[in-house]
Amino acid sequence: MRINDPKALYVHVPFCDVICAYCDFTRVVTHPKLIEDYLYALHEEIKLYPDIQYETIYLGGGTPSALDMDQLQTLFEIIKPHSKSVKEYTIEVNPESLTVDKAQLFVDYGVNRISFGVQSFNQDELDFMHRGHTTNMIKRGIDWLRNVGITNISIDLIYALPNQTLDKWAYNLGQALLLDIDHISLYALTIEENAEFGRMKIKPIASEIEEDMYELAIETLAKAGFHRYEISNFTKSKPSQHNLHYWHYDDYIGLGPGAVSLYRGKRIENTKNLLYYSQFKFHGEIIELSKDDQMFEFIMMGLRVREGIELKRFEKRFNQSLLDVYASAMKSETNKGLIEVVDGTVRCTERGYGLLHDVLLAFMETV
Ligand code: SF4
Repeated sequence: MRINDPKALYVHVPFCDVICAYCDFTRVVTHPKLIEDYLYALHEEIKLYPDIQYETIYLGGGTPSALDMDQLQTLFEIIKPHSKSVKEYTIEVNPESLTVDKAQLFVDYGVNRISFGVQSFNQDELDFMHRGHTTNMIKRGIDWLRNVGITNISIDLIYALPNQTLDKWAYNLGQALLLDIDHISLYALTIEENAEFGRMKIKPIASEIEEDMYELAIETLAKAGFHRYEISNFTKSKPSQHNLHYWHYDDYIGLGPGAVSLYRGKRIENTKNLLYYSQFKFHGEIIELSKDDQMFEFIMMGLRVREGIELKRFEKRFNQSLLDVYASAMKSETNKGLIEVVDGTVRCTERGYGLLHDVLLAFMETV
């Protein structure tokens, strides 16, 4: 592994068996020919970064588990030459497309972490979101994964659904804890214009209820031993190493349609058009990031993490002191009680964490 190579690889697999009503991601319904062309193109795209060995690999989507056994095997074979030093290898899995054989295949190729798309334990909520699974597939899937030896399991939950009550949300949290997993990611529903919900003109829930739901999650999960290590992510002991690369503003490579890379001072945005992608026209926009852009993005990502930003890491990266570059924001936000410097790190206070948007505005205005 070369010292300056990116350590994190994201591969976007843009296929789903069913399209969820809230989804605005880059995805299409599974189709054998489209998947074949995609895999062929992916095999070419990965060659743009030869010889890199990644520490973390994340297969996201879309629904990677929607691929059949042969397609999954091809996908893993494409990545295999770059996974010799992998420490954390995650795949996103939806309950309805998991099988015992696929779980075993994941293990055979070194996958050691699953991000499981649970979203809700209330069947009416799953149906409302047009999710493809039933509640009884959730526990069954977790058992299958454990039986093949995968114990690092994260689940996603969505809250702030229209008409969702605090009781129903509490039920979801309670059921999540019964699974005895180590990591939970929470997402507040956003109504995207281009998603089914947007077209249906679904109204979002009142922001006060959304806030109450988030507070309830923080309290419930804290009582169960979960640490909120990032705004939306909670763990007992296994933070996502892959996502920490993003939040630490490390370089990473993103492959597949709609994926983004941060590579040697550039943001490389892949085309979202699957047809273009399959014709090897991988890149959409390539943005040269100025030093100011990079410094601000470093702060923006770093303050999402509860432990904050190590001042030494900023200085090493930019040859400047964070406290000097952002002197005015540091002063104003410290005076407001929103940020603090503790043991060589700058981080949000508990109150500042809830007002991160405002804190970042102050940093944005400094440069
Ligand atoms: S499974 Fe994920 S990517 Fe696929 S439609 Fe649903 S939300 Fe979108």
